[in-house]
Amino acid sequence: MDEFVQTTLAGLVPAQKKGEGPGFRWQWLEQGVIRLTPHSKVTRSLVLSAGIHGNETAPVEILSQVLDALWRGEIVLCWDVLVVLGNPLALQTGKRYQACDLNRMFGGRWEAFEPGTERARAELLEQAVGGFFANSPPVRWHLDMHTAIRGSLHPRFGVLPARNAAWPAAFLQWLEMAGLEALVFHQTPGGTFTHFTAQYYDALSCTMELGKAMPFGQNNLNAFSAARHALEELLGKGPEAVPVVQQPVARCYKVSQQLTRTGEAFILHIPDDTVNFTPFSKGELLAEDGDNKQVVQQETEYVLFPNRLVAPGLRAGLMLAEIPHP
Ligand SMILES: [Zn+2]
Repeated sequence: MDEFVQTTLAGLVPAQKKGEGPGFRWQWLEQGVIRLTPHSKVTRSLVLSAGIHGNETAPVEILSQVLDALWRGEIVLCWDVLVVLGNPLALQTGKRYQACDLNRMFGGRWEAFEPGTERARAELLEQAVGGFFANSPPVRWHLDMHTAIRGSLHPRFGVLPARNAAWPAAFLQWLEMAGLEALVFHQTPGGTFTHFTAQYYDALSCTMELGKAMPFGQNNLNAFSAARHALEELLGKGPEAVPVVQQPVARCYKVSQQLTRTGEAFILHIPDDTVNFTPFSKGELLAEDGDNKQVVQQETEYVLFPNRLVAPGLRAGLMLAEIPHP
């Protein structure tokens, strides 16, 4: 593994906090946060993050491989890049999180949580990203890499935050080049890291779900090669490197309704072993809390991230409706 990832996983602060790489200068900013700035003038900024959930190791390994390639000079960096390992303490312990799910706390939602690892981390990451975007080039992307806990009918997919404007074709095409088979479009703001960068900094942001979570060293990295290759192309050549696809391949969905755990009496009628994108038919009962019942409203809706074990007030699942490719 490259030094930055190694140092972060060991919980160490590097002795040297800035230096020169091939064609760029680097600066260690915080635990798990490093900035790479090319010597040549560039027009684009990228936040590249992984490990927001500490048990999702494959993206951290991909990131490490990409950083290795940068430091070996195999990629001529054409973006100002902020690399973020989201939750170092959770990564060190191999847990999804220490106290609370970090990826529900962004956009200032951390203020409503008890003090703890994730609350402090959400605040710190918001500041780090704000500081980066305040003095980096104005074309902004954010790619946040994850792996899912459960199986999925689309093993690799992207979840895109709510956005008023249309999504540029080059961005969606790059996501497809990275191997994503489905794209899910949120319709309302949320507390994820990508929602934060999209809403506050108008970044083109995507939460990339790249496959199933395994412990460090047990990931079949071949399964992730499309994502790594696409990242290396992107960092070295920019979005222009994306070959123009005549036929978009990804299936597209929008969030049709959210299932929220309303209280202790809340029952989720979706079994624990249900895989992502499982279809449900109009009228099927999805969740209930006393008289309050949530049913499938469209002809067919597809479930994403069902989880009955969330705290009251948090998301117990999303329901999706298929839409044409934008
Ligand atoms: Zn995750």
